[in-house]
Amino acid sequence: IAPSFFSADKFDISDETKARLDSLADSIYIRDAGQSEFLESVAEVLESLVPVFESNKKYIEVFERLVEPERQIIFRVPWVDDKGCQQVNRGFRVQMSSALGPYKGGLRFHPTVNLSVIKFLAFEQTFKNSLTNLMMGAGKGGSDFDPRGRSDGEVMRFCQSFMTELYRYIGPDTDVPAGDINVGAREIGFLFGQYKRLANEFNGVLTGKDLRWGGSLIRPEATGYGCVYFAQNYCNYKKTTLTGKKCLVSGSGNVAQYTTEKLLDLGAIPITMSDSSGYILEPNGITRKDLEFIMDLKNNKRGRLSEYLNYSKTAKFVENKKPWAEPADYAFPSATQGEVVYDDALTMAKNNVRGIFEGANMPSTREAISVFKKSNMMFGPGKAANAGGVAVSGLEMAQNSQRSQWTREIVDEKLSFIMKDIFDMSLASANDYGLQDDVQQGANIAGFLKVAESMIQQGI
Ligand code: GLU
Repeated sequence: IAPSFFSADKFDISDETKARLDSLADSIYIRDAGQSEFLESVAEVLESLVPVFESNKKYIEVFERLVEPERQIIFRVPWVDDKGCQQVNRGFRVQMSSALGPYKGGLRFHPTVNLSVIKFLAFEQTFKNSLTNLMMGAGKGGSDFDPRGRSDGEVMRFCQSFMTELYRYIGPDTDVPAGDINVGAREIGFLFGQYKRLANEFNGVLTGKDLRWGGSLIRPEATGYGCVYFAQNYCNYKKTTLTGKKCLVSGSGNVAQYTTEKLLDLGAIPITMSDSSGYILEPNGITRKDLEFIMDLKNNKRGRLSEYLNYSKTAKFVENKKPWAEPADYAFPSATQGEVVYDDALTMAKNNVRGIFEGANMPSTREAISVFKKSNMMFGPGKAANAGGVAVSGLEMAQNSQRSQWTREIVDEKLSFIMKDIFDMSLASANDYGLQDDVQQGANIAGFLKVAESMIQQGI
C-alpha cells in the first residue's frame, strides 16, 4: 500500500516475516493516515527492528501494541491576550507507554504542533527513556501556541489555562512532563504554580524546575552536554577525538547552547548556530564570550540571531538557510525534526563530515541517514545521543522523591556514565544481531527489547 512508508521486500528474511510485517505496516499506515511525522518515526524503528522480528515473531505483536498510545488527551486552551481578546489553542498529551514507569517526556509550544508531531515525539521518547535505564515510561505533550512576540503575562495566562486542563491527568507517579521547544524555566514555573494551586500539592510533577524549588543541577545543560559526551564516546571508539575539530551546530535554544558550551570545554571548534531566520558562521570559532551574547539574546531578550551581526565583526549571517553546506568535521543538528534532508547529507558526505550527533528529535530523514551509513560516517541517533536531558529529568525525580539535592559533580558524573552506557549498549545490541557498529539500529533494538519484555511480563 505504501512502499515509501515500509516494504519488507528489501530485507533478507523469511516469507512469513515479510508477510506479517507488510500487513502490520499497512494497518498502521491506514489507521494513522496523514500523520507524516509519526509514520516517519515508526518506519525508522520498524526497519531497524527487522532482525529482531525475524529472530522471534512474538515481538511483532508487541510492536503492534506499542505503536498505539495508551492514552491520547486533546483539549481546548482558551486564554485572554493583552488586548483583552479571547484566544484559543489546542493542547495535547500523548501517554505512549507506561511499561517502564510513569509517563515521562516534555511539552512543546510551537505553531507546528499537532497530534502527529506529539505522537512521533512520544514514540521516540519510549526508546530514549528505555535506554537511560531509569524507571521512566514515555509521553509527550504541547500546544500549537506560538510564544513569539507574546508578553510574559500572555505566556503566564496561556500556561495557567493549559495546566487547568492537564493537571487532572498528571502526577509525580503518573505522568511527569518537562520542557521541550519553547518550554523552558519561565513556562515550567507558570505551569508548576498552576498545578500546585489546583492539586493543593507540592511534588515532583514536573522536571526542569528552578533550583530553588526542587530542580536539579545540570538539568538545563543536560541534553547538550549529554550529546557531546555521546559524541566523545563514539570518537573514542573510533580512535579519534573532538579536540581541534570544526563542528556545525544548528539551533540556538537550550540544546544548541549547551552543546556549544561543552564542545568548547573539550577543545572543539563550534562554528555555526541557527534559528528559523538563518544561521551565523564564525569562521574562527564561536568563543565563550560570543556564546554568552547568544544566550542573553535568546534567553532574556528573546531576539533573532540576525542581531548577532550588531555584536560580531567577523561573523557572516546566511538568511533562511541551514548550516549543512559549511565545511566541517562534525555536525550536531540541535534545532528540530526534518532539518537534515537527503541533499544536506550528500553535501556533508562530499565535504567529508565524519560524524553526525543528533541533539534534536529526529532531525535527519531516513534518506539522510542512509547516506550517512553508506558514507561510513559516525551517526548518533537522537534517541541515544540526546537522551541526557530526560536522563537528568529522571535524576531530578529521584532527588525529589528523596527530598534532597545532589551536587553538580554528582549529577554530571551520573550523566556522563549514562551516556557512556547508552553508547555501549547500542553498540553491543548491534553486534548481537550481527550489525557491526550500527549504533542507530543498536539503539532501537536495545531500547525496544527492554520495553517489549516488560510489556510481555505485565500481560495484555
Ligand atoms: N524534551 C526532552 C526530550 O526530548 C526532555 C524530556 C524530559 O525531560 O522529560 O527528551
